[in-house]
Amino acid sequence: SPPQGYYTRRGGVGESGDFVTSPEMSQVFGELIGVWYVSEWMAAGKPGAFQLVELGPGRGSLTHDILRVFKQLASLLSKCDISIHLVEVSPRLSEVQAQMLTGGQVQSSPRDDPVYMKGISKTGIPISWYRDIQDVPQGYSFYLAHEFFDALPIHKFQRTDKGWREVLVDEDPEVPDQLRFVLAPSATPATQNFIQPEETREHVEVCPEAGVLIQRLAHRLEKDGGAALIADYGHDGTKTDTFRGFRNHKPHDVLKAPGTADLTADVDFSYLRKMTQGRTATLGPIKQREFLKNMGIDLRLQVLLQNSQDTATQKQLRNSYDMLMNPKKMGDCFNFFALLPHHRLTYPDQKDNTQPRAPLVPVAGFGELSLK
Ligand code: SAH
Repeated sequence: SPPQGYYTRRGGVGESGDFVTSPEMSQVFGELIGVWYVSEWMAAGKPGAFQLVELGPGRGSLTHDILRVFKQLASLLSKCDISIHLVEVSPRLSEVQAQMLTGGQVQSSPRDDPVYMKGISKTGIPISWYRDIQDVPQGYSFYLAHEFFDALPIHKFQRTDKGWREVLVDEDPEVPDQLRFVLAPSATPATQNFIQPEETREHVEVCPEAGVLIQRLAHRLEKDGGAALIADYGHDGTKTDTFRGFRNHKPHDVLKAPGTADLTADVDFSYLRKMTQGRTATLGPIKQREFLKNMGIDLRLQVLLQNSQDTATQKQLRNSYDMLMNPKKMGDCFNFFALLPHHRLTYPDQKDNTQPRAPLVPVAGFGELSLK
């Protein structure tokens, strides 16, 4: 990430920043995700240790709520060695995360140490900070990326009579300090490398960094086991022009004042699926409102409403539920997508039917919750 990039400079998550995310709106969001990981841990036969690895934790709200679930389920998890690993490029946001998760009790490391900060959560779990996923130790891990992939840079392409051409950003010769989009006169290396041969769209956005990350996650899950949960706004390979900017909660021209606005593009889940290269199974994308419903959000809301003392809190709970679930708000455009080892969904040898086998446990969230 360039030093003059948005996240290393401004990084405006939170109410005073450029955007507010689901975990910042409602504690229920992170709690249900925490339950999802515990459910996968149980389905895997309760391994003796796991790492929770979050990519781009923002203000740290999501991990904070997940840690509360781990604490509430302490008797279940008591023999499990849990550690938290945060991948964050923004020095400013890493400090916000440290404050949120440890109360500021952290130690910084020498500059060349891949673990640049360490601390212990308020609930007693070790937390380490990294700039790159490759520095996170290998081992059985749960990965989490919420509103992370949409923040990574994209390439834009357009189909022409002469074949695919990359859409580039250039300085406008007529207007000083004004950027403009131009079509590359000939094929660029990106055109050759990033367009799928079977592509049918006229315009496409490709995020090669997302592809590389998914390859790394798929390798790790194939080798060490675990699960990855990716939640973001996006589509399954159908949309074309989604690149846009936000500043102070308002739409912002992507070509104006570079480095000062949050630039984003919808996540193309079909591309992520392709980039697993079959190393893992995938589930989804499924709409956020369906995932959260399957995870039992309605029941959780009822409990919180019953436990809340005043009508202002109840109103806030209902409003944030509506924000997360309403198809016109975040319910439909946000999606959940999971990477799982193949053996989680199918037996390695399907032909051998001689041995009676316990049925595979369904993956929570991606189907209706069965309360058996
Ligand atoms: N997940 C959080 C915030 C998402 S904002 C939430 O749901 O509230 C995107 C986050 O990704 C920020 O923390 C940003 O600093 C971080 N980020 C952006 N690019 C990154 C990169 N290349 N590597 C690691 N973190 C990155």
